[in-house]
Amino acid sequence: MNEIGHFIDGARVAGTSGRTADVFNPATGQVTARLALASAAELDRAVAGAQAAQAGWAATNPQRRARVFMRFVQLLNENMQELAELLSSEHGKTVEDSKGDIVRGLEVCEFVIGIPHLAKGEFTEGAGPGIDMYSLRQPVGVGAGITPFNFPAMIPMWMFAPAIACGNSFILKPSERDPSVPMRLAELMIEAGLPKGVLQVVNGDKDAVDGILAHPGISAVSFVGSTPIAAHVYAQATANGKRAQCFGGAKNHMIIMPDADLDQAADALIGAGYGSAGERCMAISVAVPVGDATADRLMEKLVPKVEALRIGPYTDKDADYGPVVTKASQEKILALVEKGVAEGAELKVDGRGFRMQGYEDGFFVGSCLFDRVTPDMDIYKQEIFGPVLSVVRAKDYEEALSLPMRHEYGNGVAIYTRDGDAARDFTSRVNVGMVGVNVPIPTPLAYHSFGGWKRSSFGDLNQHGPDSIRFWTRTKTVTSRWPSGIKSGAEFSMPVMR
Ligand code: NAD
Repeated sequence: MNEIGHFIDGARVAGTSGRTADVFNPATGQVTARLALASAAELDRAVAGAQAAQAGWAATNPQRRARVFMRFVQLLNENMQELAELLSSEHGKTVEDSKGDIVRGLEVCEFVIGIPHLAKGEFTEGAGPGIDMYSLRQPVGVGAGITPFNFPAMIPMWMFAPAIACGNSFILKPSERDPSVPMRLAELMIEAGLPKGVLQVVNGDKDAVDGILAHPGISAVSFVGSTPIAAHVYAQATANGKRAQCFGGAKNHMIIMPDADLDQAADALIGAGYGSAGERCMAISVAVPVGDATADRLMEKLVPKVEALRIGPYTDKDADYGPVVTKASQEKILALVEKGVAEGAELKVDGRGFRMQGYEDGFFVGSCLFDRVTPDMDIYKQEIFGPVLSVVRAKDYEEALSLPMRHEYGNGVAIYTRDGDAARDFTSRVNVGMVGVNVPIPTPLAYHSFGGWKRSSFGDLNQHGPDSIRFWTRTKTVTSRWPSGIKSGAEFSMPVMR
């Protein structure tokens, strides 16, 4: 049995708590590793190591810090196939999709190679007589990141790349479902020249998370996962005086206007709805055709495409998507599909009976397509996080716009149309954080910031892009005056600039 411990002070170490969790290959349903779950003492050790390493790392000039990421990017490219296969073996997604997961994180590492420029402060010469004023961006100290199972390469890199580039040290608590890639990333960072202790990986569950939230040695917490946990982490971290950014669940709508190219829209829905078995926070889970004629034409195109989807293990190069991550997820998704049928939605493609030949114990879910879903149904309200697309028919544009506007989540949204006026009105009015115009998954690139609105996000600064540099640094503003002014004696009234 493969035992996975933690990564502390530059090396893998065995867990000592006696508590473990099983890691599965979702395609076979077999246990592939036993993961150590950290105790408070193990977290303490990781934080102590991170604190000891941080001052020296922060004092390393930013060009040298950037060079570690230059080498790390090179190592990621050199190890891409191995990392992607490892990722797929614990997550279940196809190897090509795993490469996308890694590359989206790699791009954030490329972005932070610009850290000497990105973290430059501001300077005003002559803010008053003989007075200069300047702002410094200093690291927060030790940061922590708590990540979900669905992007085990990208999301850890979203967090640790800017945090470390800014001069912080970092404690990563990966998802207990797929911890092997995060452990490899930490090893590769050491190979790239990162000093020991700057990046620590502490594996664990709720206990490790609660330990992080209470730990006085940790100044900032970044979280990505489901909304109830995001809300809990945000409340606890901020109550304990830490800065926090916490990203939660999603229910992303795609509006299809009557003038849209329906072939394009249908293809976009297939990729965005079923890619990665629907286990993406930016997956489209609700399609909103405007008008019954549009809906009927769209359904005619969607049904055969959904029926033709190829499901398979990650080793099948032709598979469109693989299994979902756990048996519990598989059961939850299938139960929600049952609920949708009971609630009166029309299940046009029924994947409930799907069995993967030769992989009968794998966590596969057949593709499901619902028509005539309504906003009061559970399958509309809840995040299903599986290969299930719901079609909600809207009578006109205003009704279509009101659906994502009224939903509790506000991560991503898209509109398909040929009309610039409709697209412009939509992007301006919709209360969702990331908007696509004829783009189904509008995930911002590394040099823009990623984040949703409403209950998809708690806190104010987003992931990567300029926001990440603000999140992982504290601003210190210095007002300085050199001798001449001081000679005139003390001032007793509030100094103001005239
Ligand atoms: P999850 O909330 O179950 O787990 C996320 C992290 O929280 C894991 O590290 C886990 O160990 C920890 N955790 C779980 N239960 C906890 C508890 N009770 N107390 C403290 N910590 C706990 O999420 P998941 O199933 O791994 O990921 C899927 C979810 O993440 C979906 O809801 C998806 O939409 C969301 N997600 C959001 C974004 C985004 O950017 N908004 C991106 C990716 C995933």
